[in-house]
Amino acid sequence: MATNRIFNFAAGPAILPLPVLEEAQRDLVALPGVGMSVMEISHRSKPFEAVIQECEANIRKLAGIPENYHVMFLQGGATLQFAMVPLNLLAAGETADYITTGSWSEKALKEAKKVGNTNVAFTAKADNFTRIPKQEELKLTPNAVYVHMAGNETIHGVEFHQPPDVGSVPLITDASSHMLSRPLDIAKYAGIYAGAQKNIGPAGCTLVILRDDLLQKAKANRAYEKLPIMIQYGPHAEEKSLHNTPPAFAIYVMNLVTRWLLKLGGLAEMEKINIRKAEKLYAEIDRTGFYRGHARKEARSRMNIPFRLPKEELEDKFVKEAKAAGMDGLKGHRSVGGLRASIYNAFPEEGIDALVAFMQEFEKKNG
Ligand SMILES: *Cc1c(COP(=O)(O)O)cnc(C)c1O
Repeated sequence: MATNRIFNFAAGPAILPLPVLEEAQRDLVALPGVGMSVMEISHRSKPFEAVIQECEANIRKLAGIPENYHVMFLQGGATLQFAMVPLNLLAAGETADYITTGSWSEKALKEAKKVGNTNVAFTAKADNFTRIPKQEELKLTPNAVYVHMAGNETIHGVEFHQPPDVGSVPLITDASSHMLSRPLDIAKYAGIYAGAQKNIGPAGCTLVILRDDLLQKAKANRAYEKLPIMIQYGPHAEEKSLHNTPPAFAIYVMNLVTRWLLKLGGLAEMEKINIRKAEKLYAEIDRTGFYRGHARKEARSRMNIPFRLPKEELEDKFVKEAKAAGMDGLKGHRSVGGLRASIYNAFPEEGIDALVAFMQEFEKKNG
């Protein structure tokens, strides 16, 4: 049935597991036992309650999220979290630390600056965002209200394989493009957020995981009561993402994705597959020097792999010919240029093999 699907290397919205799409298609018109589409039922109905509760339970199980963390399904994308984090947590007279390792963490910083005092604890800008900080490079503020980072920079292809040590200061990570790609040590983080459309579902839903003491801290912030209710974490956390109508269809598809991950064996299994896929592609990038990876080796992302060719004309040619060969979404982000292969959880290993074979052919003809 899926013979007309090509290899989709897009950064986001991105590829979803085929069995998930097929199940959503099969049940689109009528959920089994319900007789209506998931798009047509009340978000307060029993069938939808079952969907959102299972989705939360599966995410807790997959990621190992303890009881003292809230799991929320919000809207507004990761971009709204850039604002919600400081609006809730950064009170007058306090300072928030930001580690910037690429475009997304820079955008997060820009939003926080509108709200309160910030400190750039580290920036890799001078290195063209090719690396993550060494522990001793971090200039952390003692008693910062939180430290913000982006666990995986989708555009620059830079990933933290271990979180930085920030002592007892709460660590908040934008995990949009690597959430559920591998186990994360949740206890190291006080807050995690991820737009679903990269690795966990369709656009329209943002997963937010927040430790309860941060929620209590937000509520004690004097500015909190003045925030629009949709910006406050409290109602979303306390009403289990049902303060208003949630993105029901996106949550339904996310739930199917979590089932797919559980069936596969969970995040440790997923990580093994992701390591194998990424290593295959990096091995080809490093093979002769014709291709050049953007990120330094120790900071290489397993999800987003930006790379360059010797000449820009060749890059355009590569994108065009790859597309003709059934590989789409390989053009790099305009800020980095070159090419980028996004190889999220759902991206099949055959697609990596196809790209590697194509790269070898292309080098033979143009190298
Ligand atoms: C895509 C992306 C964002 C922006 O997500 P939206 O859902 O479009 O707001 C933020 N951070 C990272 C790491 C991303 O990959």
